[in-house]
Amino acid sequence: AKYVYDFTEGNRNLKDLLGGKGANLAEMTNLGLPVPPGFTITADACRHYLATGATPDGLDREVAEHLDAMEKRMGRRLGQADDPLLVSVRSGAKFSMPGMMETVLNIGLNDESVHGLAKQAGGNDRFAWDSYRRLIQMFGKTVLGIDGELFERALDGLKGRRQDTDLDAGELQGLVETFKGIVREQTGRDFPTDPREQMRLAVMAVFDSWNAPRAILYRRQERIPADLGTAVNIVAMVFGNVGDDSGTGVAFTRDPGSGRQGIYGDYLQNAQGEDVVAGIRNTIPLEELERLDKHSYDELLGIMETLENHYRDLCDIEFTIERGKLWMLQTRVGKRTAAAAFCIATQLVDQGLITLDEAVTRVTGDQLAQLMFPRFDSDADKRRIAKGMNASPGAAVGKAVFSSERAVELSERGEDVILVRRETNPDDLAGMIAARGILTSRGGKTSHAAVVARGMGKTCVCGAEELEVSPDERRFTAPGGTTVSEGDVISIDGTTGEIFLGEVPVVDSAVVEYFEGAEPEDELVRAVDRIIRHADAARRLGVRANADTPEDAARARRFGAQGIGLCRTEHMFLGERRKLVEDLVLASADEERQAALDALEPLQKSDFVEIFRAMDGDPVTIRLIDPPLHEFLPDIVDLSVKVATEGASEKDRRLLAAVKRLHEQNPMLGLRGVRLGLVIPGLFAMQVRAIAQAAKEVPGARPEIMIPLVAAVQELEYVRDEAERILAEAGVEALIGTMIEVPRAALTASRIAEAAQFFSFGTNDLTQMAWGFSRDDVESAFFSRYLDLGIFGVSPFETLDREGVGRLIEIAVREGRSARPDLHLGICGEHGGDPDSVHFCHDVGLDYVSCSPFRIPVARLEAGRAAL
Ligand code: ADP
Ligand code: MG
Ligand code: MG
Repeated sequence: AKYVYDFTEGNRNLKDLLGGKGANLAEMTNLGLPVPPGFTITADACRHYLATGATPDGLDREVAEHLDAMEKRMGRRLGQADDPLLVSVRSGAKFSMPGMMETVLNIGLNDESVHGLAKQAGGNDRFAWDSYRRLIQMFGKTVLGIDGELFERALDGLKGRRQDTDLDAGELQGLVETFKGIVREQTGRDFPTDPREQMRLAVMAVFDSWNAPRAILYRRQERIPADLGTAVNIVAMVFGNVGDDSGTGVAFTRDPGSGRQGIYGDYLQNAQGEDVVAGIRNTIPLEELERLDKHSYDELLGIMETLENHYRDLCDIEFTIERGKLWMLQTRVGKRTAAAAFCIATQLVDQGLITLDEAVTRVTGDQLAQLMFPRFDSDADKRRIAKGMNASPGAAVGKAVFSSERAVELSERGEDVILVRRETNPDDLAGMIAARGILTSRGGKTSHAAVVARGMGKTCVCGAEELEVSPDERRFTAPGGTTVSEGDVISIDGTTGEIFLGEVPVVDSAVVEYFEGAEPEDELVRAVDRIIRHADAARRLGVRANADTPEDAARARRFGAQGIGLCRTEHMFLGERRKLVEDLVLASADEERQAALDALEPLQKSDFVEIFRAMDGDPVTIRLIDPPLHEFLPDIVDLSVKVATEGASEKDRRLLAAVKRLHEQNPMLGLRGVRLGLVIPGLFAMQVRAIAQAAKEVPGARPEIMIPLVAAVQELEYVRDEAERILAEAGVEALIGTMIEVPRAALTASRIAEAAQFFSFGTNDLTQMAWGFSRDDVESAFFSRYLDLGIFGVSPFETLDREGVGRLIEIAVREGRSARPDLHLGICGEHGGDPDSVHFCHDVGLDYVSCSPFRIPVARLEAGRAAL
């Protein structure tokens, strides 16, 4: 096996092997852009190391060979005393995990080579000692596992009120001694001075950082598989900390918030690596680089254009200028807000860089769902206290909290919180996840808070410099003296950057208004309109709605539903109608039961009439009653108390007896679905009659009758025969079909298809029964442990489990269709609105997906993407 690739050997398609950073460094190298020499150790090597605890055979030799070649090319050896080559050792997984894993810069420095480095830079001792103290600090923290605070405190103590650039060579040399002391004290050993040893240890530390707690948490949040591992990049160092003619920066080729073209980035003079995003000093906007170093600036703009045209997408980049020479250190197709994703996709179409087909594949259903979130009501009375940068859109309201721990604590109590920090760092991740929104007083659109919040689709306002944030006192002060303490409610607008005191009411998003029928007006809504239309034209899957009421049905239709895939009838037994259900259960004679059913029938009929009207000739799949009957009866405890006290009626006593009789240990596996139809004479017949009568009343109505929980064809045949008789008597036509939600039904699909005109996969129950997980209990009981252990990457109730549940569906589709070629197939579980599951439904050849009204646009888009 080959474990090491030179940058000249890789390319951007090798992300699985080289990680995103390595693959794109190789791509830039091969485009002829100024990338320092380097090579990448593959993620295969990392996986081997994580699985066995040792690096694979041959890795050391390959690394040595590549390092030799790099040394020859550069004319200096790693850590060479009089003229050292230095390298960075950088993590880089397939999917970007900003700041989650480790990187160590300036590897190769020791007490000798620090002098050689100063000589290289024309006798610049300050620069050499600054680089050396950075090495010990980063190496100490990430490789040796020393608490980074210890170094920070020593540095802050030395700086006092000065900035790091004010420290002179002597002070920095002293700091190196202090840092070495910290290492000795904390580890009982001296800082390792052998350059190759430094490099080897750093590589393993990067491998290990894959399993750092914050990396694990991030992967879970972003649904990145736990077993990918990270590649490691070894890159010749270039220096932004040599002096004021040097510096480091980050940039986007377009605004990641809106998609607009322009110059978006931050630059910091005389700085290295993370300085620019860590907020240690205030950065300057990238435009100002033109004034400082016009030559590098022009070259940078040229490279940004090259990258956009090459990747045909928004890119973000990291660069460093060393004494007037520009170096590219990273690029990738950049994260962006949901709104920017739609705008950029259509802009690129208009620029002729991509086709409309590609534009549809460039946006996701999750992004569309984000755009459907509410926003602040512009007419509401608001008390604006400050304005920061609009880092990640949305409208968030919550209690201000000033630490990640408090954010987690309060949100676990069910409270909405806004996490307020000066700046965030990767250790704040848990708090960021727990918060409704994030507010920082420092850092720009490329700061940690901004990048991570955008990735999570979480509202964020950053760099609100007018705010004085005091985390220790748990409060902040705004201009004019307004003080907000922990627990005070604030509202933040990630679209405008505004911060308000108190709760601001929210209203529908413009995208929702568009789906409700408003004309597309702004750029974003026009982009959504173009993309969703194209997705509709491309998709093969139909999209239906799960809707039980005329209001939901009407909304679903406006949102583009082509029918109802699941109309549950259980709500038709609730409210005032409960009494009729009680009568039905208590009936001791046939006549009593029939009387109760007769009373229910006209009510059901009028429900159906309204839904048929709302759907105006589109098909409506009606599921006959599914839940166990005791769900409609009074609670057993309440009723017992009532009966035990004086004054309970005769009916209460009989009801209690019935509730006790109907009580089940496992109600979800009990008397429900088709079993009710078989056990309670006349119940299903009443429902079918109500459907038939309603259909007669609404011209063009297209009812489809769906029997739940069938496991054996015999069950279905019995119910179907009765339903067919009733329909024939009424002279109404309707399809009769079944849900496939019991594994046995999937496995005997060819038999069942003989009696069913359609199947609808009820994947909530099917998942529950295939895994043996009670869907009402497991999420809190043990799913988080299962997610930690990587038993699944995402809950199977959220995204369809292709391997197991998916296999049952495949069998049922194949065998059902071979028994009845025109069998109509759909899905009506929650999964019908989940992007990944929609792709699965397309792949196995279903005819439609059905989901809740608000997910319909998402399903339309994803069905289009699946077909392209
Ligand atoms: P991350 O994945 O967290 O962005 P990186 O590996 O990109 O971490 O490195 C952290 C910082 O160090 C970045 O700002 C990067 O540009 C800088 N850096 C990495 N390698 C070098 C190098 N060889 N020379 C100069 N700066 C470097
Ligand atoms: Mg980086
Ligand atoms: Mg079910």
